[in-house]
Amino acid sequence: PKSLPASLSAVRASARATPATVSDGVGVPTLHHTVVEFANLDHGATAPALVGVAEAAERILRTYGSVHRGAGYASRLTTSWFEEARSEVAHFVGLGKDSHVVFTRNTTDALALLAHVLPDNAQVFVFESAHHAALLPWPAERTTRLSVPSSPEAAIATVDAALSRFRATSDAPALVVITGACNVTGEIWPIGELAAVARSHGARSVVDAAQLAPHRVIDVAAWGVDYVAFSGHKMYAPYGAGVLAGRADWLDAADPYLPAGGASKRVTTDDVVWSEGPARHEGGTPNAVGAIALAAAAAKLRAHRHAIENHEHRVHGIIRDGLSALPGVQILHVLGSDEEPVDGVGVTTFTVDGYDPTLVAQVLADEHGIAVRDGRFCAHLLCDERLGKGATAVRASIGLATTVEHAHRLVAAVRALVERGP
Ligand code: PLP
Repeated sequence: PKSLPASLSAVRASARATPATVSDGVGVPTLHHTVVEFANLDHGATAPALVGVAEAAERILRTYGSVHRGAGYASRLTTSWFEEARSEVAHFVGLGKDSHVVFTRNTTDALALLAHVLPDNAQVFVFESAHHAALLPWPAERTTRLSVPSSPEAAIATVDAALSRFRATSDAPALVVITGACNVTGEIWPIGELAAVARSHGARSVVDAAQLAPHRVIDVAAWGVDYVAFSGHKMYAPYGAGVLAGRADWLDAADPYLPAGGASKRVTTDDVVWSEGPARHEGGTPNAVGAIALAAAAAKLRAHRHAIENHEHRVHGIIRDGLSALPGVQILHVLGSDEEPVDGVGVTTFTVDGYDPTLVAQVLADEHGIAVRDGRFCAHLLCDERLGKGATAVRASIGLATTVEHAHRLVAAVRALVERGP
């Protein structure tokens, strides 16, 4: 679009997927199947890699030395790129001192790592609306589940009340799990306010930034949170790499997440001295390709934040306003409403009266070349509460590969469905 600066258009163009030709896989295009340009409205699940990111990954694949394990040239080069990636990620999340960036497999793995290093007597507070990756890793007997709130203010009050009750009888460590942006509604949670409430009760906080990181600034210091977790594959980098970043003390005090080479400094027949720093929890050979590519994506996102936000705001507005004006189409909200929407990251989850969401998703894909997701989005408690037990919905989630035309196409396609009638 004209509103994008040239540099960002190039970035975005590189994220475009255009499977207009199907070849036989041996280099001879035997079957030319021309379709409308594929509209990827499923960025919330996984976002296509940017060209610069793919290049960073390829650089590693061509160099291919072991990380922290070799004296050779390739090994030293790969190791230095891996550690530079760690520094870039620290910068990307606004990390303060006495903190670590640990490379993990994804957000799920990062939150499982945090659950692993939790002090034995710590209590965890998490909203039922959280993604399963943030809802489930904690010890059940020491987890307080908070009911789904209906506004940012209610969320803050709920955490305040729960921590007040807890502190009346316990001075044990506590952790509040904060959704950065909801994967079902895209709504951005009041991160700084929730962290402040946690702090006022002597509790720590972690942000599940899986949905937020590709779209908005991540700032651990400004938010006043203790940990942040996110995935490379949702921010235009490859699968298989994620991050847990935050305060060092719990990470340093715990046994390694994966007791193995890398995590161990010295092993004797009757003792093991574990490594310090992030290496303690990065047992085994790390996913250097993923980590370096993730950092390359982080650098690109950091450089283009404002342009990305402007573009996504415009595209999201077309989808949200277009769908909400259609009779029989309901957009799902948790913290906001149609009249008073809460700022969000470009996720629109909706239902169409009389249509099974799976059928809607199929029609969008097969008749209009639009990729969306239908289902319960690994947030079953939220979907049960807001849509009805077992109910599903359709989710359209935008990103850098989404154009204004894609947004209009989605609205027109759903309008055609509504007009066709169930
Ligand atoms: N948290 C949120 C909000 C998500 O949307 C997702 C993935 O959809 C996750 C956590 C889990 O991410 P991953 O599957 O990369 O571990």
